[in-house]
Order: sequence, then structure tokens, then C-alpha cells
Amino acid sequence: MLKEFKVQTKGHTDIIDITSKVAEAVRIADAKEGMAFVFIAHSTAAITTIEYEPGVVNDLKRILEKIAPREADYEHHQRWGDYNGAAHVKSAILGVDLFVPIVGGELVLGTWQQIVLIDFDEYPRQRRVLVKVIKS
Ligand code: ZN
Repeated sequence: MLKEFKVQTKGHTDIIDITSKVAEAVRIADAKEGMAFVFIAHSTAAITTIEYEPGVVNDLKRILEKIAPREADYEHHQRWGDYNGAAHVKSAILGVDLFVPIVGGELVLGTWQQIVLIDFDEYPRQRRVLVKVIKS
């Protein structure tokens, strides 16, 4: 079963906890055992997990900004003219998908582990997240 939901973001490395929305997709699919495959079909966003508290969230933002600074020069800007080269690089580094096991109808996540969508783009966007629930 493929479920999707939309998330409004602010862009600029907006990190949003989507754990409850993924869990809802698993509930609707009525999967007792299996896998939830979470995927975002965008090249300037990412899906990962983190302990969703402001300290770690800010640490991740700061470190990603060191790896791919927003104000640096990117070939993409000359080729495409949309000035979000840093967003594409950060998305590629973190990835756009995640598998989470389902046991007893629940997502198997650590106590302090949340599923997050990160939007690196240069402006607010509405993002579509896909959740493919695979029963086993
Ligand atoms: Zn671009």
C-alpha cells in the first residue's frame, strides 16, 4: 500500500518531525509485520532520523552548513540559475529515503529517534512524502 502526505516547510534547512504521519500510514495499511519505506521525490530535501530536540537539530544544521555552505560557488548556479546548489549537495549526502521495520503494528524506532524531513531549498515549499508499507 502506498500512502502519501504533504508537509509545508519554510526551506533553509527546515527540519520537521514526520514520525506521527509515517506511523499513521502504517496504521491505515493495517500492517502487523513488515517494512515502511519512506521516500521524498525531491532533489533539495532529505529523509533521515535524529533525536528531535533543538540542540541536536541545530548541531546538524551547523555541520551541514560547514560541509556545503549556502554562500559558496556551485557549478549548478551557472548551469541552471536557481542558486540552490548547496541544497542539492546536502540532499545527496543525507539521502531521500529510509526503511523502518514494523513489528506488532508499530514502527521500530529508538526511544529518542524520530523520522525527519529536511528541506534545504531557498524558499518555503509544500513537499510530498511517500510511504510504501510492505507487509511480510
Ligand atoms: Zn537547483
